[in-house]
Amino acid sequence: MQAAVFRGVGDLAVEQRPVPQPAAGEVLVQVMACGICGTDRHIFHGDFETRPPVVIGHEYAGRIAAVGPLVTELHVGDRVAVDPNIYCGKCGPCRRGQIHMCRNLVALGVDIDGGFAEYSLVPVSQCFALPESVTFLEGAMAEPLACCVHGMDLAGVRSGDTVAVIGAGAIGQIMAQLARLQGAGRVLVSDPSPARRELALSLGADEVIDPLQEDPTRPGGRLEQGAHVVIEAVGSAVTNAQAVEWAAPAATVLWFGVTPPEQRVSVSPNLVFQKELTIRGARINPYTHARALALLGSGRLTVTPLITQRATLDQLPGLLTTGPGDHPKTVILPNGPLES
Ligand SMILES: [Zn+2]
Ligand SMILES: [Zn+2]
Repeated sequence: MQAAVFRGVGDLAVEQRPVPQPAAGEVLVQVMACGICGTDRHIFHGDFETRPPVVIGHEYAGRIAAVGPLVTELHVGDRVAVDPNIYCGKCGPCRRGQIHMCRNLVALGVDIDGGFAEYSLVPVSQCFALPESVTFLEGAMAEPLACCVHGMDLAGVRSGDTVAVIGAGAIGQIMAQLARLQGAGRVLVSDPSPARRELALSLGADEVIDPLQEDPTRPGGRLEQGAHVVIEAVGSAVTNAQAVEWAAPAATVLWFGVTPPEQRVSVSPNLVFQKELTIRGARINPYTHARALALLGSGRLTVTPLITQRATLDQLPGLLTTGPGDHPKTVILPNGPLES
């Protein structure tokens, strides 16, 4: 089979490998769709540590091609989405219910071989059956959606709130939709890209902001009163600081975009005091994968328009080098084109 192997910083190669055999408790997934995530780019560029050689790709869905001994929950042919984050269940955080803080966390596509391959070995506990109406492409979005669902739980949007989402990539577009489903009174999305702003409007955002042209907090501006929840979905120092500036009194600021570890943000503690702000983070997807799939199955949330580019495994090294461009989400199809 073909597999995209991360071999060191800036070095990703599509290699020929034998199809692995599932051990007890494992299944072999034929990968039908695997999304490119910011994390893949960070790994490729050496911002995140991982131990090469490893097949990267952690946002994937596919069909069960084989099951190992002791697997009774799933059968050959079943369609599944994969939760890549494997918890130990034994460490201190795991025993306190904080599995996403697991000290021995191992992630498919980061620490061990993942989804940028024709086939992937997955523990059966990490597989979630796709609802019938959910396509493989949508299934590949289950992981980022599950992370957003956790973030939205922590952001605490209340009915009627004004919610500002900074960044209209795939995450921002999902967050804006989730805010609306939470009952937000007004959802504003900020992004310098006209195409992304258009997409946000088409997916239900009430207003969009070009942050290079407009300061919404100026007198008479659209966020003069601030937003009750601000969701930062970029991960840059500028937008992290902006999120605090845009917050209303007593607001929650969610710093959701992943930043490089050395990044620092300049924030006025006095502003946090004066406005009594809550600034918080959200880490991966504890117990939210099933909810993400339920949402996809409901049709209340739309992810397919976010996938503006489909590519082959061979194209992956080039795509990681050039960056996402204007594409909110690029999905690799390791087993060739899909019907939908
Ligand atoms: Zn991801
Ligand atoms: Zn643990």
